[in-house]
Amino acid sequence: MTLTEKILARAAGKAKVQAGDNIWVNADVLMTHDVCGPGTIGVFKREFGKDAKVWDKTRIVIIPDHYIFTADSKSNRNVDILRDFVKEQDIAYFYDVIDDPNGHWHFDMSKGHLKRQYGSQYAGVCHTALPQKGHTRPGEILFGTDSHTCMAGAFNQFATGIGNTDAGFVMGTGKLLIKVPETMHFRLEGQLQPGVMAKDVILHCIGEIGFDGATYRAMQFDGPGAASLSIDDRMTIANMAIEAGGKNGIFEFDSRTQEYVDARVKLNGTKSTYTPVAPDQDQKFVYELVVNLDKLEPTVACHPDPGQRKKAKEMGHIKLDRAYVGSCTGGKTSDFVEFARVLRGHHVTIDTFGVPATPEIVRELQTTYWGKQTVWDILVSAGVQMTENAGCAACLGGPVDTFGRINKPGIKCISATNRNFPGRMGDKESQVFLASPMTVAASAIAGKIVDPREYLAN
Ligand code: SF4
Repeated sequence: MTLTEKILARAAGKAKVQAGDNIWVNADVLMTHDVCGPGTIGVFKREFGKDAKVWDKTRIVIIPDHYIFTADSKSNRNVDILRDFVKEQDIAYFYDVIDDPNGHWHFDMSKGHLKRQYGSQYAGVCHTALPQKGHTRPGEILFGTDSHTCMAGAFNQFATGIGNTDAGFVMGTGKLLIKVPETMHFRLEGQLQPGVMAKDVILHCIGEIGFDGATYRAMQFDGPGAASLSIDDRMTIANMAIEAGGKNGIFEFDSRTQEYVDARVKLNGTKSTYTPVAPDQDQKFVYELVVNLDKLEPTVACHPDPGQRKKAKEMGHIKLDRAYVGSCTGGKTSDFVEFARVLRGHHVTIDTFGVPATPEIVRELQTTYWGKQTVWDILVSAGVQMTENAGCAACLGGPVDTFGRINKPGIKCISATNRNFPGRMGDKESQVFLASPMTVAASAIAGKIVDPREYLAN
């Protein structure tokens, strides 16, 4: 069995499963957020009764993160709906925007977008917050009401996005009927070279198979190249499995996984036991691709979908209006450090926005020194508009007052986010080019798409 099949078999209480089997699996964690949480709660109450109790209050994790830093009253109200439900059900893990359990969330636009407006429990973007807060464990099943839930596959976990109806059912029963996906095999060899990042790996893979090339399939990444990648790198790659239509992305368990997970469950006092899965000798794959990391070059996914792959060095004719670094995919500490590596000593020439994924990342960037300046200050000195209000921000457009949202037609934006279908970051007539934080940095300096190695060489 493949890694995915092994986890699903165990969760179904079966010795063996194969692609195409329909099986009931037990969920380990259900995650929801401010956009889908209220709808999920509505389904749960409608189907199980208004006085029903959730299946397990210690296995539901609620993370408001999407439409948070906006004055839109309906969006603010969603956070209050989550808080009321958490109180009613006594749910253990709720990362509220405010500290007052009886308060109401309101974003104060008069204070501007840059300075922090959240309380001490707020955790930021759900997929980045889940591992930081100790909710991702090898061998487990994570369901989340968000398509990029697949990011937790970096931790040798079966993690996938589900809709509100399924999530309402999981909330009531802890179970879900799943068709076992076929597995596609991406064997990574070699090592990433300077100027090339994990984002380039996944953009390359999606370029090979197209934005629907992994529809309802597992994408398994392994081999010596995968072992050489950091946990952040693996998260970036697993995150974008859905951009090829994948059911999930998954990595093998190793000492890096163990070190990260053990540290995080200890720090947060969450469940510390888990049983990873290792691949069998007789794995059956429906597709195989070997990717030599040594040979990869900075890559861009052009408008209008993540499968439109080109090399950054061939894109100099694309003049840009804006650059954006952030999101679950591209807003981690390591992403901002590589962004700063290129920007250090330069100044951006186009509007450039930086949105860390979580408050923890904000703190790290503001306290990590590179020479005499913090990483945060390097970026601000280079002209990047850095906000402390960690969250999804303009990654998915959001209400019109969202930080970094594209509100004008015709804007061309290079972005370290994960999705670029028309209208994703705002105006439907804008164009988004997906790239690594390094390529975004170099392009923000040049005002057009360029290969970041040009700046590293200097
Ligand atoms: S940062 Fe973007 S991709 Fe990630 S959860 Fe938020 S909206 Fe989705």
